[in-house]
Amino acid sequence: MQFVPTLLPSLIQAINSVIETNAEEVTALDQAIGDGDHVTNLQRGMKALVAQSDELAQLDWATAWQKIGMTLMTAVGGASGSLYGTLFVAMGKAARDRALDLQAFAEIFGSGVDAVKQRGKADAGEKTMLDVLIPVAVSLRQDAVDSVALADVLANIAGAAIVGMESTRDMLATKGRASFLEERSRGHIDAGAKTSQLMICALVEVLAEHLT
Ligand code: ADP
Ligand code: MG
Repeated sequence: MQFVPTLLPSLIQAINSVIETNAEEVTALDQAIGDGDHVTNLQRGMKALVAQSDELAQLDWATAWQKIGMTLMTAVGGASGSLYGTLFVAMGKAARDRALDLQAFAEIFGSGVDAVKQRGKADAGEKTMLDVLIPVAVSLRQDAVDSVALADVLANIAGAAIVGMESTRDMLATKGRASFLEERSRGHIDAGAKTSQLMICALVEVLAEHLT
């Protein structure tokens, strides 16, 4: 897989716009089982990243991910700020001095997701963003092993993200604010799972357009 750092501004823009477009729906999800601030938290982070995007495009991927992670940690706030921040900081660390082919990217993303698990003391099945991030990491790793064509890798990632996001609806929340609701947390999609899915699908769309 060929990675072009100059794509970063388009990727950031795509995420920014998918969050804007779905702001009402995601806010409603976080209001149902959280405190309703998830979108405004992310919007703060995206505003900071948009402002940095030209600068980020000049960096190598490892440094760019590290910087994105630091920005998200300071700008986003809430549980999701430290978790999304951790994802990117860990990816930056794992990517240091590595050529970025699909195999390497799968490992790097996997390291990022492992860091989120540790940070949140959470795993799959707890009704969080990890129910999207973990299946996406698994899909990537499997497709890297099988040397699947890039267009299919991207389609599989998007599919895994959507199935993972939907799977949170019937789950009992055992982490984060939603866990305070216990059984009443069931029946609502987790807001962080929804934004992870939206962002991953937006990234996939840009990458499919430019790389395949
Ligand atoms: P807060 O919950 O502090 O208001 P946000 O609303 O920005 O923060 O983010 C909430 C989202 O963060 C949840 O929907 C969930 O996906 C994710 N989340 C919360 N706690 C954890 C955790 N321990 N591990 C993984 N993800 C978590
Ligand atoms: Mg919240």
